[in-house]
Amino acid sequence: MKNCVVVGGGLCGLFSAILLADRCQKVTLIESAPSCGGLLKSVTDSHGVVYDQGTHIPNTTGINEIDEILFGDEAFIRDHWHVINELPSGSFFNGHWNLENQSVDVRHLPKQDYEKAAKELLENDQIGQSENIEDYLRETLGDTITEQVSLPIVAKLYGKNVDGQSLQRQSSVNYFGITRVVALTNETTKRLKQTPAFDHKLSFHKQADYLSQMKEQGIAMPTYYYPKNGEGIEFWVEHLLKQAQAKGVEIITSEFITHIEHQGDRVTHITLGKSQSTIPCDLLYWSAPPFFGLKASGLPISSHKAEFRTANIFYFNFDKPLTNKTAPFLWNWHSEHKTFRITLYPNLRTVDNGQYNMSVEVLSSPDEANDITVEMILQEVREMALIQEDATLVSSHRQTIDNTFPVPTFEFSKATIENYQTFIQAFNNVIVSGRFSGKQWFHADVLTSAYNEISKRFA
Ligand SMILES: Cc1cc2nc3c(=O)[nH]c(=O)nc-3n(C[C@H](O)[C@H](O)[C@H](O)COP(=O)(O)OP(=O)(O)OC[C@H]3O[C@@H](n4cnc5c(N)ncnc54)[C@H](O)[C@@H]3O)c2cc1C
Repeated sequence: MKNCVVVGGGLCGLFSAILLADRCQKVTLIESAPSCGGLLKSVTDSHGVVYDQGTHIPNTTGINEIDEILFGDEAFIRDHWHVINELPSGSFFNGHWNLENQSVDVRHLPKQDYEKAAKELLENDQIGQSENIEDYLRETLGDTITEQVSLPIVAKLYGKNVDGQSLQRQSSVNYFGITRVVALTNETTKRLKQTPAFDHKLSFHKQADYLSQMKEQGIAMPTYYYPKNGEGIEFWVEHLLKQAQAKGVEIITSEFITHIEHQGDRVTHITLGKSQSTIPCDLLYWSAPPFFGLKASGLPISSHKAEFRTANIFYFNFDKPLTNKTAPFLWNWHSEHKTFRITLYPNLRTVDNGQYNMSVEVLSSPDEANDITVEMILQEVREMALIQEDATLVSSHRQTIDNTFPVPTFEFSKATIENYQTFIQAFNNVIVSGRFSGKQWFHADVLTSAYNEISKRFA
């Protein structure tokens, strides 16, 4: 194949351009932002302390060709990556930490509520069948857990006025494991989890038990990586960019496509908006929102206006070591806190460099973003006891990123599928991929799917 045009220079577009460069004579990548990386970016505060936005602890996919592009060969890994074989996590709920598990620990409900919740959970041996998240939770976990634990988490993620019955359970966007809870004793859980209904609702108490179940089922667990060199996850973008450039991929940033020309069901050329230049195209690989491709092709666009959450990320650097010395990633399921996820960077380093930094993520509607203050989030960090009592803030930074997680309504899924189908059915030389295709969300799934699509096309 002669000319391939990749649209979108996020993780999916960059990785796909590298794969396509081995299969096409010329690959051109068009990115609308001034630089590539999409959600993968690092941020530096006024004291030179580095933090990450978006995905930051990449993991292997289990497919050698993908993993070698992502992380390099053994020698490169040794020199550049901090390797984490088991990723410790933890969750905060009602004033308590569970540092064995990211699932919510409902044993921290008030006593009477917990007893009611446990009774409902044990008496029901059915797996919910409903397609909407609220009814599924009620059928699976019972009314008490649904009302007191799960729906408040759904509201924290997707908005306080969101209707749980309007949200699709099985969506490419996920609910961060809230459909399983820690509820009983470790031994009872292990025993109950041998029946599918309880396996669906109970989470293993200890990571080791989960890992041994995966091993028994022959499922290989991923290895996690974090850059050693202190540049943050942007190192990964640079690593991919260098490979794309070495393979001759032409990268055009701050550009977008205004016209897609076709003959019958084959795209033949694309026209760029700023330079007005026209590029021949034998394969169009689309990892940006399909909306733009439909517009440039003059194809019908689903009229549903999706709602996206704004990510408010607070970056803090303290003068004293953080209290948690193991988990890089923590989750806060406490309904009165705005904080949803926390990254503790010292736990991603091999050496103590005197920086005790963390990022704290809060999701909101775009309108609510200004009401969330640094003081509010610092107070939550103190209430979670993540810093020593006498620790003081040395430096900080705040970032507001619109259009991150889509609210996974049935209408959103329908519109996403319709737009995807319209685009791929109109042309037989267009591949629509990446998180915006609506088919996958986690980066390893996005990349595996991109790899499979490209392998199939060039089989
Ligand atoms: C807040 C947040 C946290 C996340 N956390 C995790 C996590 O912890 N673990 C995990 O596995 N996954 C996580 N994800 C998902 C993960 O980030 C994605 O799977 C991955 O980044 C997808 O890469 P992508 O290239 O498909 O999309 P993106 O990174 O969004 O890249 C799309 C690119 O297309 C460009 N673009 C847009 N419109 C146009 C246009 N018209 N023309 C040209 N270019 C265009 C954009 O500028 C962007 O560079 C998270 C996502 C979000 C939003």
